[in-house]
Amino acid sequence: MPALGNCQRCGTFFCAGDRRDVDGVAYCAPCGNRPDVDWIEAYRQSLLGRRDGWAWLFGFSAIGYLIFSANLAANGSGALKLLAIPTLGSAITGGLFFFGKPVARILLVVSTLFWGSVQLYLLGAWGLLPTLFSLAFVATALTTPRNRLFFRLEVSRSRLKKDYQKLADNRLARNAFGLGLLALLLPVLGPLAIIAGVVAFKRVDPKARPPIGNGGYAIAGIALGVLSLGVGALWLTLGIRGQL
Ligand SMILES: [Zn+2]
Repeated sequence: MPALGNCQRCGTFFCAGDRRDVDGVAYCAPCGNRPDVDWIEAYRQSLLGRRDGWAWLFGFSAIGYLIFSANLAANGSGALKLLAIPTLGSAITGGLFFFGKPVARILLVVSTLFWGSVQLYLLGAWGLLPTLFSLAFVATALTTPRNRLFFRLEVSRSRLKKDYQKLADNRLARNAFGLGLLALLLPVLGPLAIIAGVVAFKRVDPKARPPIGNGGYAIAGIALGVLSLGVGALWLTLGIRGQL
């Protein structure tokens, strides 16, 4: 087969058979499969089947439902006693969700709709409010990239990239920003925000694989840190004047 070009990483010639395109750059097959080249795929692999925060949350809620269900069965009267059954259903749903059983995703929607109809029955039109809130909550849980990956479902590369930038890319920059916000209330944290911001900003490298970004957060952290020192100085001055 004729050679089509050179791998952008190692320079080896590739043909149509062993050419790998990753984010618009052509590589040879061994380079294209490297975790530092196809880092989005490596990120996907690192999260595949890994329990996320939502799974833990629904797992813990299952324990609550279980206790609540036993309580209803033992002490409930009339129709309340009957609610022990769907409550047990919600406990089982939470347990199945925790262990990554795909059917739990459907059961979660079913149980949310069931409890929504109970709320509508008890509260009338006002029951719509908590029901819509619960549905939005469940929809958020089921569509986050990390939860979908826990259930080994497909997540597009662009969504994975966004998730990486939000949760894994240059976390120090985001921490600097958070520290900067806190420093406005607690100016002693100002220097920490500035140091974290400077270190995080120095790390920024869009050409690295994976690219290191979030420079904006680092700068915001530095700015807030400086601002908090100004606020702190103002407090100090006013305090001293007050004492004199
Ligand atoms: Zn190569």
